[in-house]
Amino acid sequence: MSKREKSVNALEGPVTEVAAEFPERHVLVKCPGCRRVIDQDKLAANLEVCPRCGRHLRVSGRKRMRMTVDAGSFEEWDRELAATDFLGFPGYAEKLEAAREKSHEADAVVCGRGTIGGHDCALFFMDADFMMGSMGSVVGEKITRTFERARELGLPVVGFTVSGGARMQEGTTSLMQMAKVSAAVRRHSEAGLLYVTVLTDPTTGGVTASFAMEGDVIIAEPGALVAFAGPRVIEQTTHKRLPNGFQRSEFLLEHGFCDLIVERGNMAATLAELLALHEGVAPAAGAPHALAHEEPRGRRGRPKRAPEPEGAYDIVKLTRSTDRATALELLERGLDGFVELHGDRLFADDAAVVAGIGWKGGRALTVIAIERGNTTKERVRRNFGMAHPEGYRKAQRLMRQAEKFHRPVLCLVDTSGAYCGIGAEERGQGEAIASSLVEMSGLATPIVSVVVGEGGSGGALALAVADRVYMLGSAAYSVVSPEGCASILWKDTKRADEAAAALHITAGDLVELGLVDGMVPDLGLTHAEIAHDMMREVEIALDELSGLTADELVSRRYDKFRAMGGNRICSR
Ligand SMILES: [Zn+2]
Repeated sequence: MSKREKSVNALEGPVTEVAAEFPERHVLVKCPGCRRVIDQDKLAANLEVCPRCGRHLRVSGRKRMRMTVDAGSFEEWDRELAATDFLGFPGYAEKLEAAREKSHEADAVVCGRGTIGGHDCALFFMDADFMMGSMGSVVGEKITRTFERARELGLPVVGFTVSGGARMQEGTTSLMQMAKVSAAVRRHSEAGLLYVTVLTDPTTGGVTASFAMEGDVIIAEPGALVAFAGPRVIEQTTHKRLPNGFQRSEFLLEHGFCDLIVERGNMAATLAELLALHEGVAPAAGAPHALAHEEPRGRRGRPKRAPEPEGAYDIVKLTRSTDRATALELLERGLDGFVELHGDRLFADDAAVVAGIGWKGGRALTVIAIERGNTTKERVRRNFGMAHPEGYRKAQRLMRQAEKFHRPVLCLVDTSGAYCGIGAEERGQGEAIASSLVEMSGLATPIVSVVVGEGGSGGALALAVADRVYMLGSAAYSVVSPEGCASILWKDTKRADEAAAALHITAGDLVELGLVDGMVPDLGLTHAEIAHDMMREVEIALDELSGLTADELVSRRYDKFRAMGGNRICSR
């Protein structure tokens, strides 16, 4: 017995005895994450995820396909396509030969069609075992053909990426594959079809800078390295040590570049759920990302016994009460399910704005909500419901997606205002709100907004240029806070109650002024009752709006906001 086997034996006694008895069977592997030794069969049963530390190990494209699609459903496309050494690049022919022998594949991607949880889709699975998934003419051609066929067949595409980047041995032809695939992705998208990318370890270089980042929904496996320039290159260039976790999936999520991180064991179920939602089918119950799994929430549905408000300022105080249902609580109670999607694809994911795809009564909707948080810890994490520019940009991104997939949009508004701060100004808070107003005014899909608490000025309006705007009875919607108004006009914040009354910011006032379409009474109701009543109004509105063409919808929305204020002026 070798020294190594002895040390292994000390850790995993019984297993290595088997290995020693049958030396031809290598049943032990070392996890590159925790360095522990794992039984290969156990590892395989756990989808090649280390049972000790959760490290997601690399798997071949074909193995990945078997883990993902329904058994027996895969029909492979273009398996025979193989690269040639057309530049006569030193050593390439031998390298190709060795890679083919090692991987039993003709090149670095497996493409085809199959079903996931019964949902038909086109698929590609890149293969790290073939020259580290490098992209040359064959990878580019096969993935392009996959998008073209999917477009002809009206199928979504689900693609798993893993790649060291463009294949140098094919020179500039490899570079051009980035453009070729991207053009095919665009055509597929313009046909209104879904593309989901799954980033696996490692996805780098030209693949990251093209189709890996072009998905409508971008999923990453935990801990995957996803980078344009690899960490070694960056360290050599900048002479700086990189922080822990740099360029990993979790870093990507924080910086707004992926929608969600999904463990391998949940991957097929998550993909099936997304495919179902884009077919307009409500997913099966017990989906892994339902709202209930989000985070524990306090004060579940405690009947509210708040005193009847006596004036507008009492209502403002009610909107700030900690007993109040937050937007997420209302969604949790009002929707049948919800998949949260993250990130603005520019800078960060803003926790003050929760966005994703929800479903209710068989209808899928894009849901965007300003969440102020319930517990102190959560309030801090959500910045007390004051969004940064990236929150509004995430909302815009998902609204454009809603339009592409003809999904209605539901916005829940509860904010004292957009965040006032240095970073928010540096990244263009005003621009972010402004572009939201423009985006919403022309969005060719129904939009319903509900002010469920505070509707604080521009930061609230940025989610409320809607076909129908409702307010809860105890909500307020204003151009400025009563305190702000009193302080600016009268230099006296103690006169906030006077200001609140003068501003006419209650639901009743705003319905009368024609600025809001309706009120959902909520005083004295439990959170569950409020959620139920609110969603009933939303569903009635969506039923009405679904009868309109996109042009009618947009022109009525224009007319609605066009009329505001014009009816309050006179000529002198
Ligand atoms: Zn491990």
